[in-house]
Amino acid sequence: MYGTDRQAAELYDILKAVEATPAEEPLKIELQAKETVELLTDQLPDIEDRGYIGISNKKILSKVANSLRKRRTQTFLRKAPPDDKAAKNSAKIGSTLINRLVIEASPDPRLEQSGAKLSSMTQALAYKAIREQRMKKYSRRNCTSMNIAKAQASMTNIHKKNPTRKEIWKGLRHGDFTREARHFLIMTAHDAYMVGTHWDKFNQRPDLQIRATCRKCNVTKTMEHILTECNCNGQKTVWRLVEELWEKKGHKWRSIDLGIILTCGLPTLGKNKSTQGDSRLYRIIISDSARLIWLIRNKRVCNDDGQEASEIEIRNKWIAMMNKRLQIDREMTHQKFEKKALSKTLVLATWERTLLDENQLEGNWIQTNSEVLVGI
Ligand SMILES: [Zn+2]
Repeated sequence: MYGTDRQAAELYDILKAVEATPAEEPLKIELQAKETVELLTDQLPDIEDRGYIGISNKKILSKVANSLRKRRTQTFLRKAPPDDKAAKNSAKIGSTLINRLVIEASPDPRLEQSGAKLSSMTQALAYKAIREQRMKKYSRRNCTSMNIAKAQASMTNIHKKNPTRKEIWKGLRHGDFTREARHFLIMTAHDAYMVGTHWDKFNQRPDLQIRATCRKCNVTKTMEHILTECNCNGQKTVWRLVEELWEKKGHKWRSIDLGIILTCGLPTLGKNKSTQGDSRLYRIIISDSARLIWLIRNKRVCNDDGQEASEIEIRNKWIAMMNKRLQIDREMTHQKFEKKALSKTLVLATWERTLLDENQLEGNWIQTNSEVLVGI
């Protein structure tokens, strides 16, 4: 049954049923084959963690997983009882008695992540989870408050400023961030990615709880750990490169923490034209680098064998990312962007002292055809 055409047909039936049911209505599905129930429950998180590598019917399976994920309420799935004749012919929708709650489609669109998103649970645990729903919301709010407090502390300690919560949230939406980096920072501030703190709640399921711990460092895998502390190849190399570039710019780098990342949109490093560029580079390098570390981590988690990226790979990725940003900045000065166009002076000030063979470039390199690259 596993990986057969019959299973593909059954998955297709599920997909049709899910698509035909409004996202806010509970959906109960009975299946003829217990293998498909197991596939979508016990096995799916691991399959997703492994990026569907080596899985038959992966196309339809990932479609089913995605359609379930879009649902805003729970989906129930079980094998049809043997005496239920009606269920023998095809997948039957809308059963009345459900023994097992097997899939919890994430009700919060903010809860997106690259690894497993659906969790399989026993019924007892599912009921517990429902009871704890309020508690979960409450603790996510706690984590968010903690993150904002870290951000405020960082601004007070480093920049001697005392921003309000509102100002911190505004800083997270700074127009100098790429859309992706802005999304990443806001999600991080909300503690909305499925990292260790979330898996920790499944303390009765050692198989789920294992996701909470960083295998290399043996500590809870919080976003702060991933971005600033983890010993897996990634964060250290990236922040070393940031330091190198920032010191070329003429500033002293200080060791990174979550507060600095979350407030990188706020500091003003001076009032004149040239220091406006410094503040802008600061926002760009911190926001883009933090997101890159998250992407490197996701790729490692999805790798079959958890293999880490090499230092050289990480270095190349970071340099390519910075060069791409430099190129976009250069293009965005074009007058065709009208009001959205960037000021040439600002772009020159942003990248000044960071470029490769900078003394050989024309003063206004934006207008030229020469290749301009970050000098690291
Ligand atoms: Zn770690």
